[in-house]
Amino acid sequence: MSGPAVPRSLYDLLPGDVDALVAELGLPKFRANQLLQALYHEFPASPEELRQLPAEARAAVTARCPLASATEVRRVTSDDGNTTKLLLRMADGTLIETVLMQYPDGQAHPGLPGEPDDEPRNPASRRPRSTVCVSTQAGCAMGCVFCATGQMGFERNLTAGEIVSQVIHVAKFLKSRGEHVTNIVFMGMGEPLANYTETVRAVRILTDPRCFGLGQRHITISTVGVIRGIERLAEEGLQVGLAISLHSPDEALRQRLVPTASPHSVQELLTAAKRFFKATGRRVSFEYALVGGENDSPETARPLASLLRGTPTHVNLIPVNPTAGGFQRPSRANVLAFEAVLREAGINCTVRVEKGSEISAACGQLRTDEGNAIIAPDEISALPVAPRRGPRQAQPSPAPSQHQ
Ligand code: SF4
Repeated sequence: MSGPAVPRSLYDLLPGDVDALVAELGLPKFRANQLLQALYHEFPASPEELRQLPAEARAAVTARCPLASATEVRRVTSDDGNTTKLLLRMADGTLIETVLMQYPDGQAHPGLPGEPDDEPRNPASRRPRSTVCVSTQAGCAMGCVFCATGQMGFERNLTAGEIVSQVIHVAKFLKSRGEHVTNIVFMGMGEPLANYTETVRAVRILTDPRCFGLGQRHITISTVGVIRGIERLAEEGLQVGLAISLHSPDEALRQRLVPTASPHSVQELLTAAKRFFKATGRRVSFEYALVGGENDSPETARPLASLLRGTPTHVNLIPVNPTAGGFQRPSRANVLAFEAVLREAGINCTVRVEKGSEISAACGQLRTDEGNAIIAPDEISALPVAPRRGPRQAQPSPAPSQHQ
């Protein structure tokens, strides 16, 4: 898969790179920290907003490395106000989607990987939990049949800076409300481990104390099963969470749902998950998209329970959302029966609470085209910022994200 297709921006730089840039430009060393402070605390939208630097230094820095902030094209908020989907334009015009999910009571999102038992929160805290779901690619080549992004095809990898700029954009939006980003999940458009180098670089930038400074345990990377990527990630010395999209205990059925999976992917993923846990001490969660009539029966739950019994894991059951693939949502009875089989087998299990499906911001629904017609660049500036939706209306069919 191709590497970054666009030039590096300031948000691609690790602190050492910023130190080196400042030295190359003959600027005093302290300008590096001023620049980082501005980038990660002021969230500038343009070079002029890098006010901590004198004009001359600002011009020298941005001439060498552009700021390249994400530009908001469209914003849609769910009926309850807790989920916001952003259509963002990258510097070269590429469109991607980013989702903000908020939990006003400060509690974890039931079923969101990495969150339920990480960093137990003070029950007295009423601060909202604000999780940003970032995209790592424009489109996706993995082709999961129930995922709208998968139906778009692959456009290109995003750079680390483009991944970071999504978080910065949301952080600025939250700052205006006196809030901040508390968690990041790499579950937006694309397969993060198919864009391995940029994904890991983004994690390092987002968690470095001189940059965005988020705790590593507040980040979860989701994969549909890039085995080599999981193995590499285990050796990075990071404490991020890992979520693996399993979707079936049966090899043939999994291949039908994830056409790019290998014929032995179920066993390979279980082995990789165990190695990841051994290397990092971080429990791996398994995502399981429940597709009506495909993999949602108790007969499928039983072999899954056998497969996972004794493995330190958590299973997130995700009733699939309506997407372009025409797959059906599972019945509530099937979801509950499936969950019961896993629980009876002693497997930690959660049914993910759906957030944002009416604005197509839920899992498996992210896409930046409509009816396969990518929005033309000259149409973008004409797109309005969508007002908050009124009562739920019937949706035409598909829309945005991912690794369920
Ligand atoms: S579920 Fe994830 S890996 Fe599969 S097509 Fe969608 S974005 Fe790609």
